[in-house]
Amino acid sequence: MAVDLQALLARVRGHLKYVPRNIQITWALDSELDNGHHWAQWRRYPHDGHWIGLSCALQRAPTYVLEYIIGHEVLHAIFPYRRCRHPKAHVVACYLLPHRAAAEKWLSRHS
Ligand SMILES: [Zn+2]
Repeated sequence: MAVDLQALLARVRGHLKYVPRNIQITWALDSELDNGHHWAQWRRYPHDGHWIGLSCALQRAPTYVLEYIIGHEVLHAIFPYRRCRHPKAHVVACYLLPHRAAAEKWLSRHS
């Protein structure tokens, strides 16, 4: 069954207090993700808002993993990368996402 990314994004919005409205979410080919972004990537476009690309490799991932990854990427809309790194506030906010431990375990098993 196809994964409904919009429904997952809506669920993630329910967990987080402030999320920008203009977020696009799509599956992405490896070639669309910058180096070092294995599973997913967030980008901001000056006029078109935010984009989250999820690696097609995640199409068979359990829902809780997708929800966690989307949460991680959505938080970049609030705490953008700083010099290509995750700011501390982003890391802390990710600790509060649902399913974190189980999702991290699944991701490390499938890396
Ligand atoms: Zn990140």
